[in-house]
Amino acid sequence: DSEASLAQRNAVAHPPFDVHAVRRDFPILQERVNGKQIVWFDNAATTQKPQAVIDRLAYFYAHENSNIHRAAHALAARATDAYEDARETVRRFLNASSTEEIIFVRGTTEAINLVAKSWGAKHIGPGDEIIVSHLEHHANIVPWQQLASEKGARLRVIPVDEDGQVLLGEYQKLLSDKTKIVAVTQVSNALGTVTPIKEIVELAHRAGAKALVDGAQSVSHMKVDVQALDADFLVFSGHKIFGPTGIGVVYGKRAILEDTPPWQGGGNMIADVTFERTVFQPPPAKFEAGTGNIADAVGLGAALEYVERIGIENIGRYEHALLEYATQHLRPIPGVRLVGTARDKASVLSFVLEGYSTEEVGKALNAEGIAVRTGHHCAQPILRRFGLETTVRPSLAFYNTCEEVDRFIAVIRRLAAARP
Ligand code: PLP
Repeated sequence: DSEASLAQRNAVAHPPFDVHAVRRDFPILQERVNGKQIVWFDNAATTQKPQAVIDRLAYFYAHENSNIHRAAHALAARATDAYEDARETVRRFLNASSTEEIIFVRGTTEAINLVAKSWGAKHIGPGDEIIVSHLEHHANIVPWQQLASEKGARLRVIPVDEDGQVLLGEYQKLLSDKTKIVAVTQVSNALGTVTPIKEIVELAHRAGAKALVDGAQSVSHMKVDVQALDADFLVFSGHKIFGPTGIGVVYGKRAILEDTPPWQGGGNMIADVTFERTVFQPPPAKFEAGTGNIADAVGLGAALEYVERIGIENIGRYEHALLEYATQHLRPIPGVRLVGTARDKASVLSFVLEGYSTEEVGKALNAEGIAVRTGHHCAQPILRRFGLETTVRPSLAFYNTCEEVDRFIAVIRRLAAARP
C-alpha cells in the first residue's frame, strides 16, 4: 500500500507545479487548530487568500481609496483606474469580448438574483418555462422559483443518474418553445460533478432559450471561456477563487444586457435624471447602482492575476490527480458511502460514514485540525435525490497535498475501525 501510495503521490506532484511554493503564498495555511497545522478542505465553501490579494487590498486602502467616477481628484482617478483594471482582468479571465459585459455584484447569489429579477422580469411570462438541474445550489433554484411564482411560469428540473450526472436525454425532452432560460451549474458544489455545460447551452439555444451558467464552483478549477461556451450569462463569486468576500461577477452578452432593464436604481447607473424620467447608463454601469465594493473588486482582480500566474491548466491537472488520490483511498474504507461518482468531477468528495452522523465525522476531523463542511451544502434537492439530508464534504484546492489527504484518511479509517 505504501509503495503504491508513494507512486501515486509522485504522480500527483506533476511538474511544473510546485505545491510547496504555492503554499507559501497562503499565510493562513500555517495556522494551527487544536495543536495541529490546519488542513483546509472547505474550499467549495470559500477559499483562502494568497498574500498578493491581502497586499493588494491593503495597498488600495493605503494609497488609492476613494469613491469612483464622480470626483475630479487624483484619488478618484486612482480608485477608478484600479476598479476598471480589475474589470479588464475579469474580462480577460473569462475571455469576454468586452468589459461592458462584466458587471460587479456581491457574489453568485446576487448575480443570479440580478438576472432573474431584471432579465427574467422582462422576458418570462405566464406559461413560460425555466429549466434548472437537480444539482443546483439553492442560489440557482430559489430566485427562479420566486420568478416562476410571480409570473405564472413553471420551473422544470433536469434529473441526474445514480452517479450524479445530468441526463442529457431527459433534458432534451424538457426543452420546448416554452423554455425561456436554462440555468445550470458547471460544477456541483455538493457532489463535484462537472456537467456537460457546452452541450447544455447549445441545446438551450437550439430551443430558442437563453442559458445561464453558474460558474461558482468551476472558475477556480478549469478554464472557463464564455465565448467558447456561448453562455448568455455566467456568474461566479470572488471568494471561491482566492479573492475577497462580497464581490462577484455577472458576465452577460452585450446585446442581452442592452435588452435587460436595470435591477436597482440610484447613483452611478444613470445618464440623466429629472422628476419625469431617468436615462440609464449603458451596461455595465446600468447594473451597478450605488457605491459598489470597490476595494474587493480590485482584490478579485489580484486573485485572478494570481491564478493566471500559476496557470489554470496546471491547477486543474494537479487537483484532478489529488482528487483521484483521495477518492482511491476513501472509497474502500468499510462503511464509507461516496455520493457523486460521475466520471467527470472537480474538487469535491461527498460521503457518509455508517455508524456516525456527519457532524460527528466533522468534529473528529476538526479535532485533528482538518476543516470540512458537513450539512446540506445549500443543495438539499440533490442530497435528497440520494436519500440523504447531509454529507461530509471535503473539497480540495491546488494548495492541498497528498500528505493532508493522508491525515484526513487516517481519521476516517480510525472512525471506521471503531464503528459503534
Ligand atoms: N452556486 C454554487 C454552485 C455554489 O457553490 C455557491 C456557493 O456555495 C453559490 C452558487 C452561492 O455563492 P455565494 O454564496 O458566494 O453567493
